[in-house]
Amino acid sequence: MLRLHEYAYHRPGTLNEAVAFLREHPDAMPIAGGTDLMPNMKHRLFTPRHLVALKGVRELHGVWLADAEGNPVEDGSPAAAQVVIGACTTLTQVSRDPVVRRTMPSLAEAAGKVAGPQIRNQGTIGGNLCLDTRCTYYNQSLFWRQALGFCLKKDGDVCHVTRTGKKCVAAHSADTVPALITLGASMDLVSVEGTRTVGVDEFFVADGKWNTIRGRDELVARVRIPLPNPAVRTAYVKVRQRNSIDFPLLSIAAAAELAPDHTVRRISLVVSALGSRPRVVTGLDKVAVGHRLDEAAEAVAQQAFKQCHPLENLIVDPEWRRAMVPVYVRRALHEMTPARPLAA
Ligand SMILES: Cc1cc2nc3c(=O)[nH]c(=O)nc-3n(C[C@H](O)[C@H](O)[C@H](O)COP(=O)(O)OP(=O)(O)OC[C@H]3O[C@@H](n4cnc5c(N)ncnc54)[C@H](O)[C@@H]3O)c2cc1C
Repeated sequence: MLRLHEYAYHRPGTLNEAVAFLREHPDAMPIAGGTDLMPNMKHRLFTPRHLVALKGVRELHGVWLADAEGNPVEDGSPAAAQVVIGACTTLTQVSRDPVVRRTMPSLAEAAGKVAGPQIRNQGTIGGNLCLDTRCTYYNQSLFWRQALGFCLKKDGDVCHVTRTGKKCVAAHSADTVPALITLGASMDLVSVEGTRTVGVDEFFVADGKWNTIRGRDELVARVRIPLPNPAVRTAYVKVRQRNSIDFPLLSIAAAAELAPDHTVRRISLVVSALGSRPRVVTGLDKVAVGHRLDEAAEAVAQQAFKQCHPLENLIVDPEWRRAMVPVYVRRALHEMTPARPLAA
């Protein structure tokens, strides 16, 4: 049986109390749903002396529409400019929210494809954004890792994937992130110093050891997603071993704004679960803008294939995962292709 170490559990009532506690206690970690942190603690990947529970902080809950300044507005208001999601909103709530489902179906789909129903009822979008990277040589018990002499990400100095490199290549594995990036989302990071807003695409760095720019005493308070115009189509597709529960082996999100004749005005594609940060596929304007999605699908798929180079960081063969990139890009774009011309 894997046992937890001893720690103190704190329940702040406000965001200010939570960030003040984190500032005062360098050996404290935030916990939201605990669906990732608890297993990791059992594996002795983290051994914080204090846990700061976020679920009791009311201002971190909910999904609402807001105007450009962030003031809440009613659904249907012409001033609505963004969808705001509190960090402690559960993945089930995100996946079922009517505004999210209507205006950004890829995000609803991604949230609804995390793990299984029980974990989605407990796991939050903030925890998903801050999800630790994953690797075959890392997500193991202390005994297992010790037998191998540990690894670069935790307690060791060798990467068993690259064998030479000094940079950790554990995989970014959060489902909602690729969708959020294609939607141009940003997030509010709060500390005792105040709030800074960063793009979700800027939040991640290419080092699997600690792959975000979040300071130890900063909290994700909310995610802000610009309200897409009705001509934007989105999709999220995911490869996993068991469709009922598993982390992604490959994940792809796409968003495209289409003209009334169905040609692409703007397109964004993000591939993840391969390296330590989600990969924004570049050069798509040249191959897709001005073409219909079905005409451009093959060129977009090849562009993604060229830019994606998975390693042996997850259990499934990297060459097979690479071969699946164009297959799933085509599927995503096919899902987004409208059947009939859009109303002008
Ligand atoms: C069997 C299983 C299958 C899973 N499958 C998937 C999957 O398919 N896709 C996927 O994306 N995830 C998966 N997960 C991981 C996890 O359930 C989700 O990522 C979930 O969204 C994590 O949210 P949480 O609230 O439980 O995070 P927690 O476990 O509470 O926290 C995760 C990390 O984020 C930090 N944190 C949490 N909230 C905040 C915040 N507001 N500000 C700053 N830091 C914060 C914590 O300190 C911790 O480091 C799976 C987990 C299990 C056990």
